[in-house]
Amino acid sequence: MQKTRLRKYAKLIAKMGANPQKGQDVILNCGIEQPEFVGMVVEELYKLGARKVHIKWNEMTMQKYHVKYQSLKTLSTVDSYEEAELKFSADVLPARVMLGSPNPDGLKGVNVAKMSKSQQAKFPIIKPYRDAIDGTTQWTIAAVPGKAWAKKVFPNERSSKAMEMLWEAILAAARVDEDPIAAWEAHNADIQRRCEYLTGLNIETLEYKSSNGTDLRVGMMKDHQFAGAVEVTKSGVAFNPNIPTEEAFVTPMRGVADGIVYASKPLSYQGALIEDFWFRFEDGKVVEAHAEKNDERLQKMITMDEGAAYLGECALVPFDSPINKTGLLFYNTLFDENACCHFALGRGFAECVKGHHEKSREEIKAAGVNESMIHVDFMIGTADLSIVAHCADGKKVQIFENGTWAF
Ligand code: ZN
Repeated sequence: MQKTRLRKYAKLIAKMGANPQKGQDVILNCGIEQPEFVGMVVEELYKLGARKVHIKWNEMTMQKYHVKYQSLKTLSTVDSYEEAELKFSADVLPARVMLGSPNPDGLKGVNVAKMSKSQQAKFPIIKPYRDAIDGTTQWTIAAVPGKAWAKKVFPNERSSKAMEMLWEAILAAARVDEDPIAAWEAHNADIQRRCEYLTGLNIETLEYKSSNGTDLRVGMMKDHQFAGAVEVTKSGVAFNPNIPTEEAFVTPMRGVADGIVYASKPLSYQGALIEDFWFRFEDGKVVEAHAEKNDERLQKMITMDEGAAYLGECALVPFDSPINKTGLLFYNTLFDENACCHFALGRGFAECVKGHHEKSREEIKAAGVNESMIHVDFMIGTADLSIVAHCADGKKVQIFENGTWAF
């Protein structure tokens, strides 16, 4: 891969993603597969004025050994060293960059029950710190190729060729070959316009229908707003949380969803693939679910806590999106969620409530935003998906037709 193209991608992640302000710290979480590229990102962050870039290397499969060899008690403990790190983030508010190349099968064979139990046990300690940074600082997720991931996406290619092809796909999805910053500014503005239109409709219910059996109605919060592409912190710093992104999303009203929805792509969840699955909702809650493959993981996911069985996000992405047009299945939510419409189970977004920066956590919850330790996107978009908006004034507006925008 040409260095000049990688440099453009590194600049994009630093500027549009993290957007560090002069003197701000940055925490950079990254895999070990692309150290040279990580170096470029670090340099760009410093050039933008970062005070200190804290680098945290990680390798996902290490988690397998932790789960296997630690006692459940140890695995469930947040050590003082780890808690100090959480406190540091809540106090200092560094920007955060996640630069991953997760192996879709990286946690195959792990003891799911033990791993989930430890996550549930640690969550109450982690939650206050997580709440403290929510909405107050920039964060961004982007990806770089890893060997196992590349082989999963391009199974018939040699390793080096597969890596090269995954780089190409990532750079194309991130619009790197145009003037990336200008391309992203235009793209952000386009998604913002769609969000404004959708918010202006004052939707009460979204009705989803597809020939694969999906037939679901989802209620909206009274003071909802659609969001997408660019976010703004409490202090007014703009950033792109996901590179790439194609979605306009909203958090639905907790407790108002009825019907059935079928997934249209496999879900890579905690290092394993859940395939051919569906959820049936009653009063906003999943009351029945099934997966043909890795059903155990699916059932675990929706019972992680009380909110895990409720929706946190409805996202609109046209089926003819650039990522879907590649025809690739990335086995990675960052990409696959931008290929077509999706929902997420679990935690909802405060920024989908009007005036959220002035509202307390309790007020956000009272508005109807679901709380949970999980937020898991799953794809439901199909070539014939129809979405009709039932608006507060009684109007019905077709917003999606044949899998794409109807306006
Ligand atoms: Zn989403």
